[in-house]
Amino acid sequence: MILPKTTRLTPEQAAEVAAIVGEFGCQIQPIIGAVRTIYAIVGDERDELMINRLEGLPYVERIDRIQSPFKLMDRRSDLASHRIRIGGVTLGEELAVIAGQCTIDPRNPGYFLETAAAVKEAGAHILRGGVWKPRTNPYAFQGDEKSIEILMEASRRTGLPVDAEVMDEHQVRVALDAGVQMLQVGARNALNYSLLRAIGRAVAKRDTVVLLKRSMHMGPLNEFISAAEYIASFGNPNIILCPRGTAPAVDGYRNHPDESITPLLKEKTWAPVVVDPSHSVGKASYVQACALAAVAYGADGLCIEAHVNPSQGIGDDPKQALTPPVLAETIAQARQIWALRRNFAGV
Ligand code: PEP
Ligand code: MN
Repeated sequence: MILPKTTRLTPEQAAEVAAIVGEFGCQIQPIIGAVRTIYAIVGDERDELMINRLEGLPYVERIDRIQSPFKLMDRRSDLASHRIRIGGVTLGEELAVIAGQCTIDPRNPGYFLETAAAVKEAGAHILRGGVWKPRTNPYAFQGDEKSIEILMEASRRTGLPVDAEVMDEHQVRVALDAGVQMLQVGARNALNYSLLRAIGRAVAKRDTVVLLKRSMHMGPLNEFISAAEYIASFGNPNIILCPRGTAPAVDGYRNHPDESITPLLKEKTWAPVVVDPSHSVGKASYVQACALAAVAYGADGLCIEAHVNPSQGIGDDPKQALTPPVLAETIAQARQIWALRRNFAGV
């Protein structure tokens, strides 16, 4: 990581730096922060001669070398002071809430528009709505691209930024062109490195935020954080990690709740953690407890499925979605736990 003395390198300085690292088979990747731009050395940065030559440049303040498989997302990275701001909330400073339907029903757009207004009223900062849906059953409703218009209409009416899952490059393009501010990588795609790269490239020069779900089959936490590094390595570090339950180990919950990994993640990465209790426990009556537990474990936010009329919803909504009053109560209680946690001595 190259830290310049000024807020950013001039084009001539950047070219000189690129030429030096190029001699050693590396490249530089600018990471544009709110205050200054830092430059990641992409490649094997262990060569002492390369480091000495960079350190000798008059406009370089210092070179930080982190031996980590995820040097940008690592807690020790210079990006650790980076803050993600969306929907009027700065992650880490206030509990961030993403809420909305699992799936937008294009035949009943009114439900989504009502849900959007209701989740805003309940205290959500970001509106979620599934346009394209990854379904285990190939014959189940797979989503409908036309729903992007309903999503953006809800965003205009409420003023909330929106979160939508994308599963391929075409969907990434359609979502970004429509103005989606948060792209969701679903659990099934968290290990799809081509998609992670494509998203990294697509958001590189934007302030889009990526919500990266934890895969059902992810083991070591490094695997999860490295998936985020794939995206960040293209230059946009606005990545939020989202535990959402792993492969079920007990009968009852849809997945195995994993909000308890939050402190472990925070020991390794500066990335904010937003827990999804809805897919974790998979049943509306358990969601509130899981959401509160997540905040107790140190989550920076929650991603909760909600619907004005769950029984009339589609996708996961009939079984998982909270009604707006329950969502409002969950958010209010979660904020109390958040406040208690401020004085907490542990991680
Ligand atoms: C969803 O958010 O509706 C979804 C499909 O989530 P996951 O990828 O966590 O299963
Ligand atoms: Mn869902």
